[in-house]
Amino acid sequence: MIKTDIIIIGAGPVGLFTVFEAGLIKLKCHLIDALPIPGGQCAEIYPKKPIYDIPGYPSILAGDLVDNLMEQIKPFKPGFTLGETAANIEKTEDNQFIVTTKQGTKHQAPVVAIAGGLGVFIPRKPPIFNLKDFEEKGVNYIVKDPEVFKNKKLVISGGGDSALDWALFFANEYASEVTLVHRSQSFRAHLDSVQKAMTMAENGKINLLLDSEVIELNGNGSLDSVVIRNKSKEKATIHTDFWLPLFGLSPKLGPIANWGLEIKKNAIVVDNATDYSTNIEGIYAIGDVNTYPGKLKLILCGFHEATIMVQSAFKKIHPNKNNVLKYTTVSGVTGFE
Ligand SMILES: Cc1cc2nc3c(=O)[nH]c(=O)nc-3n(C[C@H](O)[C@H](O)[C@H](O)COP(=O)(O)OP(=O)(O)OC[C@H]3O[C@@H](n4cnc5c(N)ncnc54)[C@H](O)[C@@H]3O)c2cc1C
Repeated sequence: MIKTDIIIIGAGPVGLFTVFEAGLIKLKCHLIDALPIPGGQCAEIYPKKPIYDIPGYPSILAGDLVDNLMEQIKPFKPGFTLGETAANIEKTEDNQFIVTTKQGTKHQAPVVAIAGGLGVFIPRKPPIFNLKDFEEKGVNYIVKDPEVFKNKKLVISGGGDSALDWALFFANEYASEVTLVHRSQSFRAHLDSVQKAMTMAENGKINLLLDSEVIELNGNGSLDSVVIRNKSKEKATIHTDFWLPLFGLSPKLGPIANWGLEIKKNAIVVDNATDYSTNIEGIYAIGDVNTYPGKLKLILCGFHEATIMVQSAFKKIHPNKNNVLKYTTVSGVTGFE
């Protein structure tokens, strides 16, 4: 059982900044995220895009913002459960919440902050009849740990940044063989990545199959080969250890929708007049996941909500202590040892 002061569900920019604001008032945090990396939408959807409305930064790449937030929260030593979806919540008799992930990891705290953004990113799955038989047995939709693929044969499908980035990464360093399959001639990824992939294909480091798609999976218990068909309906079998269909992730509110929280239009209703609390005492919702009159789904607004929320969490956790707001210019940033 992981024990902390605040369980934060969602390690997007808002969840990360919550650690900082909580740390300033000596509250410890543990973050849970379904994705294998922190950063939420900034890391998963647009890491290389510049953001122009973060105060003090005329322009900052979304990925750099995440790196900076990680640096900023370092003194407060947050815990992370990454690559796991928070699936269940229960309240004990002594007012503690137990949050359990799909994978079974248990977390306990008196306060839960849901910073789940647009929800859990669900992979877009290709329509292959026996796909389920090979999930986690050779078919992976996200790369949680690149080590798993070391010296293996990989087939990667997709035409976006994720497919290209991983194909380049594995072809450069890790895998013994990389085949990149894409159903058209044009890619949606960054031009620079596409050019690199083309060069690697010319040099024989990537086996590039355009106008093609994987249509069949074979293996006995785990994946052994995939069948690829091109536009001329010609088929080829490729022996492989893994197939990574990287067709993008689409967000869904997911398990949180069944926790008894008041939900409106796929978002959690909160009290914005006070502290971003939900209808369940001790559970707050901040960032893109919440809704209230005038809500704006912006990082800046999520940061504000996190700051207000942790003050209320402090009162709940330490009902007999008085917390006086101090400027960081006066108090500095004293982390946890
Ligand atoms: C292309 C694009 C451009 C944008 N540009 C801007 C901009 O210029 N300025 C701006 O302010 N905003 C911009 N936004 C919006 C901004 O990215 C969001 O407001 C911000 O990411 C919200 O942060 P968050 O932490 O609330 O949620 P998210 O970033 O969505 O993170 C939520 C995290 O929660 C996780 N999660 C959800 N449910 C669970 C669960 N049950 N268990 C475990 N993990 C869970 C998800 O995996 C995710 O990582 C843009 C968005 C997009 C898509």
